[in-house]
Amino acid sequence: MGILLTVDLKHVSDAVLASRGGAHGSWPWTRKLLAAADTQFESRWKSTTIDAADALEIRLPSHAGEPCKGDLLTLVGAKGATVREAAATLERVASAYARHNTSCMGRIDFAAAAPLSQVVLCSAPLNWEEYADVTPAAGALYCVDGFHRLVAWAWKGRLTSGVELRVWLAD
Ligand SMILES: [Zn+2]
Repeated sequence: MGILLTVDLKHVSDAVLASRGGAHGSWPWTRKLLAAADTQFESRWKSTTIDAADALEIRLPSHAGEPCKGDLLTLVGAKGATVREAAATLERVASAYARHNTSCMGRIDFAAAAPLSQVVLCSAPLNWEEYADVTPAAGALYCVDGFHRLVAWAWKGRLTSGVELRVWLAD
């Protein structure tokens, strides 16, 4: 890990909201996830960096696109997956995923073309429905905010040696 800076929920929330400008993703949803992490980890937040190898091992919760917007395919099943595994799955099914999960693929495509930006992680499965069947792994990091960005960057081969990713970590 890189430089550690202790921060609080307000810092993380303000920064996440500012970075996405309200136009992408669902801010009310994200705000609830951040609050859940804040409660679970007793407001212990830090800003730090991880290398690309660690970023590829971040655990993702189950994700079936955005069903509320008509998406049909599951990218990550109930047991979760690493960023590396989810990107490999996407690579295998990319054309079908683009056809049947237009909302989710739109978010992935947008992220794929955007600069790397800071994601929000925690150090145990989040107390949240999508993480209910994810088995904890020693030393693993879990995605709180940044699912589409992480999958997109891995899928496009951008998480390579020498890349440092900024993260906020609830720990
Ligand atoms: Zn999605």
